[in-house]
Amino acid sequence: MAKKSNSNQGVKCSFCGKEPSYTDILVPSPLGDAYICSECVDQIEGLLKDYFQDNPEQKPQKAHAKKHKGAEDEAGKPLPTPVQIRDFLDQYVIGQEDAKKYLSVAVYNHYKRLAQDKDDVDIEKSNIIMVGPTGTGKTLIAKTIARQLDVPFAIVDATVLTEAGYVGEDIESLLVRLLQAADYDVAKAERGIVFIDEIDKIARKGDNPSITRDVSGEGVQQGLLKLLEGSIVNVPPNGGRKHPEQKMIAVDTKNILFICGGAFDGIERKIAHRLNTHVVGFTSASVRSKVDSDNYLKYIAPQDLKSFGLIPEIIGRLPVLVHLDPLDREALLKVLTEPKNAITKQYEKLFAMDGVKLIFAPETLEFIVDKAIEYKLGARGLRTIVETIMVDPMYETPSTDIKELVIDRKFAEEKIRKAYIG
Ligand code: ADP
Repeated sequence: MAKKSNSNQGVKCSFCGKEPSYTDILVPSPLGDAYICSECVDQIEGLLKDYFQDNPEQKPQKAHAKKHKGAEDEAGKPLPTPVQIRDFLDQYVIGQEDAKKYLSVAVYNHYKRLAQDKDDVDIEKSNIIMVGPTGTGKTLIAKTIARQLDVPFAIVDATVLTEAGYVGEDIESLLVRLLQAADYDVAKAERGIVFIDEIDKIARKGDNPSITRDVSGEGVQQGLLKLLEGSIVNVPPNGGRKHPEQKMIAVDTKNILFICGGAFDGIERKIAHRLNTHVVGFTSASVRSKVDSDNYLKYIAPQDLKSFGLIPEIIGRLPVLVHLDPLDREALLKVLTEPKNAITKQYEKLFAMDGVKLIFAPETLEFIVDKAIEYKLGARGLRTIVETIMVDPMYETPSTDIKELVIDRKFAEEKIRKAYIG
């Protein structure tokens, strides 16, 4: 296509405006309405090289695709490998090594399953359940994965669900959010990810559910089972309760990946109990001494979910069981400053937009973390605390000519004391 064009009279490089007599090659655009000369191509190549050297993470997919040995999706586009999914998660999520690894594999397998040939071996769905204290990154991990895969993603709260016929929302309403996230493109929604938060809140309350109606417990679990297994569900497009005149949208949940999350408060006792009964006997002393009694969650097994009140059928439909670790002081400090969109980075950007360099003193960061621990707010509380400290500076600074603002510990302490939070 490149031509040393002297034939096309009046043709110029659409970038620099030079005519063929002043440059050697002119390349026409495939659309035929523009040209670019070799000098401009060289210049752009140099610019791109410099740019990707400074911003390697932004290198286009094509460059990675050549090295890619993994599976492809239905459209033949290479799927990110588990290591690539994990690398992406690392940019946003601190710690949680096990969870990140398990999820990367589970999600990769899920999309391989979507692309599988229909032969005799049928790869089954691998829905996921994440167990861990609140504010440790369950939602964040699910959201980050959805972002990387560019699929519709919906977060729903299991606490609003009740058995059909009772006050609350029908189980099908879970899928309304997903449809909305997919702009009502049913085919797109049918390959999406649904994150069901607070799954522990629909655990069976007692051992004998038949004595009193358990409308938000076992009944909901039975309803949910249908969705997890994969079935065609009629969804009311606007959510809420179904009513007879409403037009329904049929959604097949066979290929929707469900990720459930819950704090399962008190499950540690059940795990400890199982471990203790289990290890009584010959090996008890040695095995017991190896158990990390500060973090029983890492030994979680399906039977603990059953003791907590999830029905075995649901547990069977959530084959990937992962735990999240509590975030200690060091991890919280990292959460504050390290992820790609860390809280402090967000505030620095807000101030930079006003031409102000914002600096959090290291002691201030330690103070913020201490307060989050003291208030038992975990990572979730960090933002509230920073917001409380920063509201006055954000209000005042734009109308001053300050160019640099250092937030020191004394200032932060003062703001928190005045706000009486906690
Ligand atoms: P939950 O486990 O209750 O779903 P979230 O994922 O919603 O917790 O976490 C709440 C907020 O706390 C997140 O938006 C994020 O800012 C922060 N956060 C929690 N855990 C982590 C983590 N491991 N790494 C980075 N940020 C985290």
